[in-house]
Amino acid sequence: MSWFIRKEKGINTPTELKKETPDGIWYKCPECKKVMHTRELKVNAYTCIHCNYHEKVGSVEYFELLFDNNEFTELDTQMTSGDPLQFTDTKKYPERVVASQKKTGLKDALRSGYGKMNNVDVVVACMDFAFIGGSMGSVVGEKIARAIDYSLENKIPFLMISRSGGARMMEAGYSLMQMAKTSAKLALLNEAGVPYISLLTDPTTGGVTASFAMLGDFNIAEPGAMIGFAGPRVIRETIGKDLPKDFQSAEFVLEHGFLDFIVHRKELKNRLTSLLEMLK
Ligand SMILES: [Zn+2]
Repeated sequence: MSWFIRKEKGINTPTELKKETPDGIWYKCPECKKVMHTRELKVNAYTCIHCNYHEKVGSVEYFELLFDNNEFTELDTQMTSGDPLQFTDTKKYPERVVASQKKTGLKDALRSGYGKMNNVDVVVACMDFAFIGGSMGSVVGEKIARAIDYSLENKIPFLMISRSGGARMMEAGYSLMQMAKTSAKLALLNEAGVPYISLLTDPTTGGVTASFAMLGDFNIAEPGAMIGFAGPRVIRETIGKDLPKDFQSAEFVLEHGFLDFIVHRKELKNRLTSLLEMLK
């Protein structure tokens, strides 16, 4: 019965050739480990139907969730990063940018656009964590600044959706300047009386938390989102003390007065609309 015996040694089947359930039909929640159909996940606004875990999604999903019929006009679609510092880590920075563009289909870590949300005009800028950790480089900062300009010129409320590890190391000082630039633009928006709502999603940290993400007329968050400036390990080592449970969770941050409210993603569109109606 030689056909039971594998004669050749070292046969390896590449993962993509293995005959298994087609990819992307089932979704396993990383929180409660339960399985659901990806369609169920999608109609539930990319949150777990069992435990409400909020899957990390990007601008494509948020735009689809918020803009009526997914209709919007995107701003600054072609803006890409330069390499002002000629920075090299394990890769040259321009190579890293190109690799990320290929991997994600995005130009950088933020997309912005305007359209209608429940028939209310809104400008939305949304970060994409998949692109170099949603790091804030010159492109992210400039696109936010220009989206705010559009809000100002047209007197349309501005919504910022943050999901970021903070500054983009490869742009160093240029990255940090984006904090000042976006904050100054938001001050103009404030002077003009145009509402700004900041939605913090998991995770929002570093220079993003330290600038535009915390400057909203309303700062709101998704449940369970990690929100902070420095990471917990750095803080623990600095202060030499153990940190409280749930430290840096949206719920903890809300309790300590840094957020206005937490909103389930399924209710996001309607809550935002009623908020904007009130602010008119
Ligand atoms: Zn779950």
